[in-house]
Amino acid sequence: MYRPQPAVIFGPVASRRLGRSLGIDLVSPSTCSYDCVYCECGRTIDLQVERKEYGNPDRVIADLDRILASHPALDFVTFAGSGEPTLSLSLGRVIRHLKEHSSYPVAVLSNGSLLWQKAVREELAPVDLLIPTLTTAREETFRRIHRPHPSLQLSTILEGMVTFREECSVEMWLEVFLIPGINTTSQELYEMQSWIARIRPHRIQLNTRHRPPAESWVRPASMNALRQAKAIFEETGTPVDIIGELTPSPHVGPREKIHAALMGRACTVEEIIESTYLQEEDVRRYLAILEEERRVERVYEGGQLIYWWRSEESCSL
Ligand code: SF4
Repeated sequence: MYRPQPAVIFGPVASRRLGRSLGIDLVSPSTCSYDCVYCECGRTIDLQVERKEYGNPDRVIADLDRILASHPALDFVTFAGSGEPTLSLSLGRVIRHLKEHSSYPVAVLSNGSLLWQKAVREELAPVDLLIPTLTTAREETFRRIHRPHPSLQLSTILEGMVTFREECSVEMWLEVFLIPGINTTSQELYEMQSWIARIRPHRIQLNTRHRPPAESWVRPASMNALRQAKAIFEETGTPVDIIGELTPSPHVGPREKIHAALMGRACTVEEIIESTYLQEEDVRRYLAILEEERRVERVYEGGQLIYWWRSEESCSL
């Protein structure tokens, strides 16, 4: 499928968890230490664990300064995108710059796979919020869900999360992604509970399939399964949110929702409806407006009409 190149800085986008968020993507498209079956950006192209420079950090910092100088209404500046942000060697430098030159809260969405590395923990220490991922306490299930780089071991990764919490006071919301038939059994949930008790996150965010995943067999967990997991995890004393139940930010309108749906991937109208919960007539109406504004472009591929977000210059800043 045609993949638009994600901008280094994108948005602001409407995030279900973070409200109105300016995104920073420091790695090349689809570069990750995992190749998750549920990834909303499709299959990982570059599966790796080596940290390196993927772009020009001076340019990223200059662009950030230019954008933030207009004091946009933001809830967070968030390191995210279509890959794993801790793979970038620029991460620490850009975080430090943001903390020294702006007052916006900084969040990092990470799979947590490199938290066992001291350098990565030190680079993340100044942020306001870290959201790492936990889907299982079992190596076999871990390999099935995340298809990780062969050098990664689940126990090392989980110990890295424990160490991060011991070393610094950064707010940590642990994202637990549930896939029916894979990690929703009582045994899986109670084994995760033991690690949650050791990691001591400030919150748990229970997530499931909301957008089209890398593998079409990944189905959404039922509300019953989500509530069962919530009850088990709450026994640790940690507050648990079910992502779909969160109240949307008041800043989030149809345009932002469509932008978030198209972030880093091209989608059909049906896929946009599935991920935004908007009515079809609203999706079509706003797509027409966004096309006229040259923010969104359409192409035919394999007999299907798909839409993609054009570039950072088209964003609503
Ligand atoms: S860790 Fe995130 S970006 Fe990487 S493959 Fe998994 S879902 Fe996609």
